[in-house]
Amino acid sequence: MEYKIQLRESDMPKQWYNLAADLPTPPLPPLGPDGKPVSPQMLAPVFPMNIIEQEVSTQRWIDIPEEVLNILYQWRPAPLRRAVRLEKLLKTPARIYFKDESVSPAGSHKPNTAVAQAYYNKVAGIKRLTTETGAGQWGSALAFACALFGLECKVYMVRISFDQKPFRKLMMQVWGANCVASPSTETHAGRKILAETPDTPGSLGIAISEAIEAAVTDPTGQTRYSLGSVLNHVLLHQTIIGLEAKKQLQIAGEKLPDVVIGCAGGGSNFAGLAFPFTTDKINGAKIDIIPVEPAACPTMTRAPFVYDHGDTACMTPLLAMHSLGHAFVPAPIHAGGLRYHGMAPLVCQAIVEGLFAPRSYHQSKCYEAAMTWARTEGMICAPETSHAVAATIDEAIKAREEGKEKVILFSYSGHGLMDLSGYDKYMSGKLSDYELPEEVLQQCTKDLAKMPPAPMRKSGRW
Ligand SMILES: *Cc1c(COP(=O)(O)O)cnc(C)c1O
Repeated sequence: MEYKIQLRESDMPKQWYNLAADLPTPPLPPLGPDGKPVSPQMLAPVFPMNIIEQEVSTQRWIDIPEEVLNILYQWRPAPLRRAVRLEKLLKTPARIYFKDESVSPAGSHKPNTAVAQAYYNKVAGIKRLTTETGAGQWGSALAFACALFGLECKVYMVRISFDQKPFRKLMMQVWGANCVASPSTETHAGRKILAETPDTPGSLGIAISEAIEAAVTDPTGQTRYSLGSVLNHVLLHQTIIGLEAKKQLQIAGEKLPDVVIGCAGGGSNFAGLAFPFTTDKINGAKIDIIPVEPAACPTMTRAPFVYDHGDTACMTPLLAMHSLGHAFVPAPIHAGGLRYHGMAPLVCQAIVEGLFAPRSYHQSKCYEAAMTWARTEGMICAPETSHAVAATIDEAIKAREEGKEKVILFSYSGHGLMDLSGYDKYMSGKLSDYELPEEVLQQCTKDLAKMPPAPMRKSGRW
């Protein structure tokens, strides 16, 4: 038995896996303002053409450029670890493995796509990237990647986090990025909101609107926008997680996992681990694949499958996804990375197919799991990651009750060393749970009925 399974650099995957090639029913296309599918040219002011090509690609395997590999080698292949002490504590016959994405310089899975996106923009001649960030994990990942490629980076950080979470902002500044509080006075969208509500805490939707505006209005044409989750190309870049894990499980003497678990905000870390195993499920393997979300932001478990915008100001195309409505403002839970109103269209289409079994948890249960985790395995996980830990503990207990020797694999998406205030609240009994009231859900999704219909197409195999 080994505690960690390491791959050699020469065994790191050299191609990403694209689930769009294998889904029995393809996802519905993104729609423009006229209700027609968007053309690649319409996206050109926002993303460089090499990224747009990946976004619409249905090719199964896509080469990872040498320059990207050379940066990923800095911390990849990431270790696959076995949670031996947690298994003992739970007296479970299950073997629990986790893919440790906390070892990246920014401390989460997000640099996997940040590096690729910075590279593609650099080779397309772009000089500057704009983006939004909530709690700061994505902003810090992109700041890191831009520093290595010599790109300027501008981050619009949700006001409340900008004020309350100075450490991620400082990380961005160390890496040379320019981080401003959103709404800012630098964009039309920001000024408009400040005029209406000067003391607004801001939101991810507002920050996305600002970042897109800043990119498309740069008169030099050398600025583009970068998104940290949700879109197909982002999920693609994250599949290196699951591809590595597959090789590592084999080295550990395991065949396929019985259960695959990841927390899901926009869906990229979950998809990164799960998609390379989803192809096995499509080909007949029996695997329970579980994305986990907060009960306060129940996109996959309670929201309708609809066409909706990715941002509050309706600047993005319409995406076919489970959505709580683009105006939805989630309760202030600590898992900032899981407070998004929508979900990746590729993940949603697989949910519609019945390939995934999403579930939701309250944050108090997640912190309880995170405390158990820290006191057995010794690692302090991000509040987002605690959702995956909680589901893993539940599945390990279920395996014990069923008397089954299952293999459970989960994505350890990041460490929580910048997020200790949530632990503080939990330990001092000040943490509250928020159940989204049904009336609020109805209210937020009411207007989606006016959007073009999104038929739930499925093969009926699962
Ligand atoms: C951002 C983040 C998530 C959520 O990521 P998605 O890929 O959007 O689902 C999960 N865990 C950590 C540590 C994060 O930083």
